[in-house]
Amino acid sequence: MIARLSDPWFAAVFTSGTTATGYRKQDVLDGADGVRFWCPCGYGKAQYPVDGARPHAVIVSFANPHGCAPAPPDAGSRSRDGGPSRWTMSGTGLHDLTLNPSVDAGPEGASCWHGWIVNGEVS
Ligand SMILES: [Zn+2]
Repeated sequence: MIARLSDPWFAAVFTSGTTATGYRKQDVLDGADGVRFWCPCGYGKAQYPVDGARPHAVIVSFANPHGCAPAPPDAGSRSRDGGPSRWTMSGTGLHDLTLNPSVDAGPEGASCWHGWIVNGEVS
């Protein structure tokens, strides 16, 4: 495990009302169409202290949100080929969130972190 998703370093928030131009942030899973957090590739590195800079954000859009529709196909997380990518989520909040399948993140086609979020743990 790298850390828990609820670790302040990640500044994780749920997203809602996602469109091609943006999203709202919220604390609760109900009504959220995704989750946004700082990429684990920078966790624990000296150049990214908890009160400092971050490498980049990761957005994971849900295939099965509770209480709202999934993000539209032209918005939310993207696969390497540019199409929409969606994850099956379970849990009740950041503390026990599970995403399936694994998350392969990276700007400009490179993979900087490929891991799992299971029961709120980032690995
Ligand atoms: Zn990264």
